[in-house]
Amino acid sequence: MKLVTFTDDAGTRVGLAKDDGIVDLRKVDPDLPRDMIGLMSEWSRIRGTIEGAATRKADAPLDAVKLEAPVPRPGKILAIGLNYADHIAESGQKTPEQQIWFCKHVTAVNAPFAPVQMPKVSMLLDYEAELVAVIGKRCKHVPKDKAHEVVFGYCAGNDVTVRDWQFKTPQWMLGKSFDTHAPFGPWIVTADEIGDPHTLGIRGFVNGEKRQDSNTKHLVFDVYDQIAHLSQAMTLEPGDVIFTGTPGGVGAALKPPQFLKVGDVTRVEIDKIGAIEAKIAAEQ
Ligand code: ZN
Repeated sequence: MKLVTFTDDAGTRVGLAKDDGIVDLRKVDPDLPRDMIGLMSEWSRIRGTIEGAATRKADAPLDAVKLEAPVPRPGKILAIGLNYADHIAESGQKTPEQQIWFCKHVTAVNAPFAPVQMPKVSMLLDYEAELVAVIGKRCKHVPKDKAHEVVFGYCAGNDVTVRDWQFKTPQWMLGKSFDTHAPFGPWIVTADEIGDPHTLGIRGFVNGEKRQDSNTKHLVFDVYDQIAHLSQAMTLEPGDVIFTGTPGGVGAALKPPQFLKVGDVTRVEIDKIGAIEAKIAAEQ
């Protein structure tokens, strides 16, 4: 199933995306949770109702609504660095023995087709195509072989990065947390529909030119390693979002480097999920 958060004249709420459009879950059952974190938190109770809604006719075509980030306000956005061999090589780094984690702050969340800001304070704006995992269950100390049980589903994401701010200091957090720099979506594809998340083609484009072209089988630390590691330190909760790393081909590593410019269009595409797209716009 593909679950969306969408907005129309009647407000923002959750729906089911199908080939013919969106099923408004409020019309399926007015007692269903209105937001994605609520939906995921009560999933075991309401799953049958939502599966049943898949046979309904869509209430609106996809282009009649605005798709929001599937989780508009995650509790946390965690992101791993240097996690594909080709990206490690182009970054001139050694393969990390430890997982390298940083935060993207939640004010960076952006809708899957909304403009991404070129900051006033930098011109070194870069893209990073990434598989995004969404946690569905509150959990701690999850063993690797049980980690699949706590993933609700997957999205396509762009770990947009301000390179000079990233490397001004050893801690990358600020350069990764500018407003609008965590777009993801366009929906959450439930984990059962993805199956093994480590077999997915992942591609990044700028203005239609393919810059990144890899497969999640090349992750150094796979999604389940990541959850096992993170959950040793912190409780993971429904709606927490994990950016799982980017393959080679980021703008900073091209010769010569090719950073994003105002008017460029970035696209991240992942097998079985779909694509998100953003036009770069000057910060107002
Ligand atoms: Zn990244």
